[in-house]
Amino acid sequence: MTKIISAGIDIGGTKANIGIIDEEGKVLISHRLDVIPEESAEALIVRLGITWKELLKSQGYTGKEIRSVGIGVPGTVDSMTGMVEYCPNLGWEDIPAGILFRKALDTEVIITQDSRAAAWAEYLLGAGRGARSMVCVTIGTGIGCGIVIDGKIFHGAMNTAGELGHTIFSQNGRHCNCGLDGCLERYCSGTGIFERAFESFPEMFDNRPHRAETVFDLARQNNADMLKVIQESVIDLSIGIANLVSILSPEMVIISGGLCEYEDLIIQPLREWVYTNGYHSWSRKKQLQIVKAELGPFAPMIGAGLLYKDV
Ligand SMILES: [Zn+2]
Repeated sequence: MTKIISAGIDIGGTKANIGIIDEEGKVLISHRLDVIPEESAEALIVRLGITWKELLKSQGYTGKEIRSVGIGVPGTVDSMTGMVEYCPNLGWEDIPAGILFRKALDTEVIITQDSRAAAWAEYLLGAGRGARSMVCVTIGTGIGCGIVIDGKIFHGAMNTAGELGHTIFSQNGRHCNCGLDGCLERYCSGTGIFERAFESFPEMFDNRPHRAETVFDLARQNNADMLKVIQESVIDLSIGIANLVSILSPEMVIISGGLCEYEDLIIQPLREWVYTNGYHSWSRKKQLQIVKAELGPFAPMIGAGLLYKDV
């Protein structure tokens, strides 16, 4: 039997991945594009359209073989209308992306937030297989969160469900790109962890890259200061996740993003702290699973390609 094939496009702050996948999530071919700062949404979508047509041609496809094209963007999207409402990393506000993509790709598209696409991929094919309700928290430059409830992606009435990264963690806290002060992601994302370390121990970053990986590499060498910074970040994140679990009561919390590779430093202690900071009513049952994502950096692209399964 011929497998259904579909396509996913994952647009990030600096790169976009475009790929053709089969119904089991296997990436048949993919291509990566640079996202050029200051480039308009229209220009980027036209470039993606050109790449899309080249990709089809390279496979000998006409386009009719493709069941669906799904797109993930790092911001607030109305999936019903295809309107990208707010996407600060790309500088997009109220962009009718659905219409623009339809024109550039010559086909209908489904658009959602990238973190929802990643959660959907993990739900269908990754660490979330078998769960009915789960959340997938992505720790990267920011903190993303996709929610699946009873086997469906949850968007919320204002398309903003899962904005865990922009929940206020600290009154009068650090200023966030979103305009608020004290957002959780300013403390616990990769960027937040680096800034926390750099503020307290700037000398550690002389001649070393100014990024979260440096903090983790030093921690791996048993640097006590960096271990403490990571532990504080994990405890703060555990409070955010415990609050989310109290509200949604999912079966599973999946941790994804580049930093989930530091499983011993992030995920293992996070499990303990989420239980410590969780409401007794659920935490006493010890049923909640907190696990590492399985699908890696292509998860948003794969999930976007499989959005047609969210019915
Ligand atoms: Zn914020």
